[in-house]
Amino acid sequence: MTFLEALNLSAIFVLTLVSPMTGSFLKCWADRAASGKSVVDGRSFCDACGKTLTARDLIPILSWVFAGGKSRCCATPLRWTLLTPELTSLLLAVWAVLTMPLNLMLPSLIVAWLLQAIALLAVPAPRIATILGMVLAMFGLGFALTGLTGQIDARLLGFALGLLCATVAWTGASDPRARYLQAATLLPAMGALLGVAMMGLAIAVGVIVAIVHAAISNMLRRSDEDQVAPATSLAIGLASGTWLAWLYGDSLLRALAYGF
Ligand SMILES: [Zn+2]
Repeated sequence: MTFLEALNLSAIFVLTLVSPMTGSFLKCWADRAASGKSVVDGRSFCDACGKTLTARDLIPILSWVFAGGKSRCCATPLRWTLLTPELTSLLLAVWAVLTMPLNLMLPSLIVAWLLQAIALLAVPAPRIATILGMVLAMFGLGFALTGLTGQIDARLLGFALGLLCATVAWTGASDPRARYLQAATLLPAMGALLGVAMMGLAIAVGVIVAIVHAAISNMLRRSDEDQVAPATSLAIGLASGTWLAWLYGDSLLRALAYGF
């Protein structure tokens, strides 16, 4: 094993291990952005009684499990949406490592992290989500340029198409009734990662996931919680569609090519 391979493997191992923390951090960022605060604004505190949380309360996934889904300070049941981002980022990291060849594991972890960030921030912090979308798009074009993924021309075209659609959508999203268009912020990255053909498939899958997500989160919602915004469901759906096409698009295309 060369030094670079060893470095690559250690990076993959460490990133997978800390992935629940990135989910936890992103959720905190999204919540604070939603209430107009900065992610670096002081310590975390209990939503119910306002007590400052200690390190024991902040271990991703484990704190939730050991406290039985209740806050340790005042035994208020915790929102399930505090746990799902942590579980999701762990799931995505393990999924990437199990599915992808070695040279695509690290790129896939980057894709997973940015997709989750964009999906969580699309509604509370649209500007940051847009910047992260552009960063992900640059990664997508970079992967194609360095020969990690498919043809660069299809991805450049996808990026341009995504940018065009997103620009139209951003103009429309200033209308409060059309807030769900904020999810279009993901489109340039989608095109840059997947190319034009796969982008179409990813959007189709994404819309289905969005409908399922909206239905399930409304089912699980407690009466004192706000309804999940359609833009959030759509952003999560499009991110999921992008993720599935990123992981399985090539094998699907190959299967189709042999099928015909
Ligand atoms: Zn409390």
